[in-house]
Amino acid sequence: MVVTGGVISGLGKGVTTASVAKIIQSMGHKVTVVKIDPYVNVDAGTMSPFEHGEVFVLDDGGEVDLDLGNYERFLNIQLTKAHNITTGKVYLKVINKERKGDYLGKTVQIIPHITDEIRNQIRSVSKGYDVTVIEVGGTVGDIESMPFLEALRQLAIEDNVVFIHVTLVPNLTVVGEPKTKPTQHSVKTLREVGISPHIIICRSGEKLSENSKEKIALFTNVRVDHVISAPDVEDIHQIPLIFNEEKIGQKILDQFKIDGKPNLSLWNSALCETYKKDVNLAIVGKYAGLHDSYLSISQAIKHASFKTCYNTKLHWIEAEKFEGKKALGELDKFDGILVPGGFGSRGIEGKINVIKYARENKIPFLGICLGFQLAVIEYARNVCGLKDANTSEVGNSEHFVIDLLPEQKKISDKGGTMRLGASEIILEKNSRIYSLYKKDKIYERHRHRYEVSFDYIDILQTGENFLFSGKTSNNLMEILEIRNHPFFIGTQFHPEFKSRVESVSPVFYGFVKAMGERK
Ligand code: GLN
Repeated sequence: MVVTGGVISGLGKGVTTASVAKIIQSMGHKVTVVKIDPYVNVDAGTMSPFEHGEVFVLDDGGEVDLDLGNYERFLNIQLTKAHNITTGKVYLKVINKERKGDYLGKTVQIIPHITDEIRNQIRSVSKGYDVTVIEVGGTVGDIESMPFLEALRQLAIEDNVVFIHVTLVPNLTVVGEPKTKPTQHSVKTLREVGISPHIIICRSGEKLSENSKEKIALFTNVRVDHVISAPDVEDIHQIPLIFNEEKIGQKILDQFKIDGKPNLSLWNSALCETYKKDVNLAIVGKYAGLHDSYLSISQAIKHASFKTCYNTKLHWIEAEKFEGKKALGELDKFDGILVPGGFGSRGIEGKINVIKYARENKIPFLGICLGFQLAVIEYARNVCGLKDANTSEVGNSEHFVIDLLPEQKKISDKGGTMRLGASEIILEKNSRIYSLYKKDKIYERHRHRYEVSFDYIDILQTGENFLFSGKTSNNLMEILEIRNHPFFIGTQFHPEFKSRVESVSPVFYGFVKAMGERK
């Protein structure tokens, strides 16, 4: 199944794809999902989250498009680097082959060499699955996506492919009729490259009328019952349920000529129908207004809110605001504080002040990656008396309690060279983290270059109530917690990358529960 997009980007195509894939999975089929990103970067690791949203990290260390996060969260599956295909990745492979002499004597061309490589990559990740769902990033008509669309057209000659096109049906005036012309044009553009959609999903403010559906069907040559309305919803987790009402799963499987009945009961029971109460969470980071740069965190919070039935309201606050002590009092109105991951020096001192405030005033606190490192620095400075403790990522200090790992010091390339992906963490039995995971060993995902310095581990742990409660087998510090506090946890890993709707991250669950139980 192939999902393309028309008219504009930002239609929520990723969540649409994840929702449709979820329904097909719920019909008893083994489903995998591939994202095609037509940009020239080999992977998303070198892209700014402020431009492109969060970089999602997989178990195998792949730094990929955030849509892979949506697929994993919705389908409760594990993906690999190979599930994100970019122009850069395809060309790199073909050019390397050309240099090695694999095409000796041949002129290497977009068709067939690049398109063959695209088809090979899709085929290889599809092995062992009943249905592969492929989302094509960007908008039909973009120059960049042409080789991909051509490869998919070719694929449909040999394989059974259902094409779904997601478009926008805008409504320009309050009382006016929704406009179907942009959809007509984008389907025409798709036809020009030899692809006729079987199903059209129309994004719009309100539900589409039968009249509009008929018009779209007539002009695009698609059956009217295959024109699906996807109105705006408050919570993305409703989308699979809405699509299911439109029987989209049956319509797709009819095209494939395979059977199945959707069963979303597990999904349904993971959502919370009526919340017990609202809780307020301050997320202190640097944003430039784009919350998509922390998408997995907000989704993990959502999962934990479903499970606890505490409705967490997110408040995004710029860390720089807390560089002076004056603003800190504002934090009293929150039930919890989260300091997420990040890079570079901006906002660091503000975050350290916030962490001190959370520790001393017993406000539930979660620090992730950089947030964990800053919690270590805060404790070293204010409790262990190492006044100028710092991370060697920023500033000068006699006491770099956070420092580059020896192997990181030798690296100069920026692409794919951090400590990436899932690794084993051994938990301390007598700890809060153990009571949340209830396991001796966990596997969580990483994306960082700096670590707690071996030289300071003992000094930090002599502090009262301070505990490194999770470590790797080679003694890298992964989790810190402070006792005699309602909830104070920092993790070097990113628990948000493994939280799913139907399998909530224990760290986020514990955190939201502590916020809800705060008096
Ligand atoms: N900048 C820090 C490091 O590289 C933290 C990274 C992060 O928060 N993802 O170690």
